[in-house]
Amino acid sequence: MYGYSGKILHIDLNTRKTWTEEKPEAWYKLYIGGVSMAARLLWENIEVGCDPLSPGNPICIANGIFAGTPVPVGGKYGLASKSPLTGLIGDSLSGSWFSVALKRTGWDGLVVHGASDKWITIFIDDERVQFRDAKKLLGLGTYATEEAIREELGDDQVRSATIGPAGENGVLFANVTNDGRQAGRTGHGAVWGSKKIKAISVRGTKGVVVADPDTLLQMSFDISETSQGPYTVKYRMLGTATNVLNMNKLGLLPTRNYQEGTFEDAELVSGEYLEEHYKVKKIACAQCPIACEQMSAAPDGPYKGAMTGIEYECLYANGPNLGINDLRAVIKLIATCDQGGMDAMSGGVTVSWAMETFERGVFTKEDFKCAKYPEGFEPYFGNAEAAVTLMEMIRDREGIGDLLSKGTRRASAIVDAERGTETYKWAMNSKGLESPGYDARGLKTFSVGIAVGTRGGCHNRTAAYDPDIQGEVDRFSIDDTRGRLAASSEEYAAVYDTLPLCKFIRRCFTGKADRAGAWPAIAKLINATTGWDFGYDDVELIGIRAHTIKKAFNIREGWKRADDDLPYRWKHDPMTKGASAGHVVTDEELEYLKDLYYAAKGWTNEGLIPKAKLIELGMDDVAEAIGV
Ligand code: SF4
Repeated sequence: MYGYSGKILHIDLNTRKTWTEEKPEAWYKLYIGGVSMAARLLWENIEVGCDPLSPGNPICIANGIFAGTPVPVGGKYGLASKSPLTGLIGDSLSGSWFSVALKRTGWDGLVVHGASDKWITIFIDDERVQFRDAKKLLGLGTYATEEAIREELGDDQVRSATIGPAGENGVLFANVTNDGRQAGRTGHGAVWGSKKIKAISVRGTKGVVVADPDTLLQMSFDISETSQGPYTVKYRMLGTATNVLNMNKLGLLPTRNYQEGTFEDAELVSGEYLEEHYKVKKIACAQCPIACEQMSAAPDGPYKGAMTGIEYECLYANGPNLGINDLRAVIKLIATCDQGGMDAMSGGVTVSWAMETFERGVFTKEDFKCAKYPEGFEPYFGNAEAAVTLMEMIRDREGIGDLLSKGTRRASAIVDAERGTETYKWAMNSKGLESPGYDARGLKTFSVGIAVGTRGGCHNRTAAYDPDIQGEVDRFSIDDTRGRLAASSEEYAAVYDTLPLCKFIRRCFTGKADRAGAWPAIAKLINATTGWDFGYDDVELIGIRAHTIKKAFNIREGWKRADDDLPYRWKHDPMTKGASAGHVVTDEELEYLKDLYYAAKGWTNEGLIPKAKLIELGMDDVAEAIGV
């Protein structure tokens, strides 16, 4: 087989045994790599119905088909476990050198079963697997852990995916970090922590053999050259932080826990302001000629020296969403999350829920006692020092940080049960995953994309905001095209997440981001790598299967139609200011949109998948398990 080794490495932490599973080429043709293959490995290896933090929940890693080749932005891997935050599929992507090094070890993927009885790191050195004591690494941040492992092994080429203190402490939105990149969402860090795995390190010395190196090289060169032109200029110059002013103008910039969609100080937290005052340099993932990450630092003030990469989602969550207009504090907050090993989106949105709960008088100063402030503090919106302190308390699960470490859905349920309040009304999550930086009240197509998301409300798994924002449809009303648009958008995104290729390359094939522009080129890249004969329709099926296996996983874990929902606020509280003021997505609208979406997918009105549909996709065993 070209492009793959055909081998998956299994590691059992209970017995410290490893074994090789050989997969047939037909299996790879169905699941390809990235989030699709990781989700499929999870489907095959989980104890159905298990507690996400129990040994029955495996860690599944699947590399990308283009990792370790010259294909631009193809150095990425997918990671899947059952999410402790949502109780459903937790699938994330991360990129860079870990993926390249893993490819060179000769393993297409990893499945880690069971749990260790003491803290360890796993070191995969080509075929050899070592379990190493991690006692000395405990308490270290994510970047420091990577460095310490390299030093311990005396090899700069060793690449590690690590957890920080948040993962060790069981913060439910803890993440996994490698090379400064994060598999950020759905709480993988907590799963790793529950197994007492501080890091998985890889050293690979093998080559990657592809079917047609000349074509692959020429295409990679051409795509790289195009990627230096106008199609990626937004990402190369300002990165995604440039979205701040655009979203503000559209009234979609989450402000003070999504109470409004415009921020009076948006200029001060914009990508343009960041570039002028705080940007240090641009950095890129491995195999990437675009380099979108804006490494930024606080040069003065109370957070002097804080430094991290900034992109829009982390920026909105820890800036306007907290009422904070000082980018130095935003950098500090995101750095606290990145080094502590927490999802900065869920972190920011959970802090904003706590701030609103304080401002509405449910929480009082007393609730915020901690070692630093024994009398408590007042986390009103805009109080940057309070936000930083809260984020540190979440990481360490100190005081009220223990409650907040559970995310907005659980934290609000606990408070409401104990105090007879209704704080769930401003707990901004779908299926337990905190909401993204596009307010769905002003994006009706996006609203159904968010509600039906398999890993919760996620802007990365649906691009259904595109037709709304591009003006292809009226973003404030609904019609019978929206179900198809949402379905099509998530299947489109799933192609990129499966290969995986960074979506920022999407216009660099022919200038158009649509399927007609990209799919033929992607098919040619796949064929040059594997020697297969993929065409347009095969690429389309990659996305459909990827989404289907994740949905099937959720159904088997007990998902119901009612789980496809939006936060209460988006259904009931219109914003009062800005270009999206006055709108909500009513329950009636949402149910109608879901009907349209399930019909567009070819599912039942309850959102279940017909057997025939699964068999048509070549997923016969899935049909047997959950098909109706
Ligand atoms: S464009 Fe940005 S996120 Fe995408 S691969 Fe390059 S550096 Fe990574």
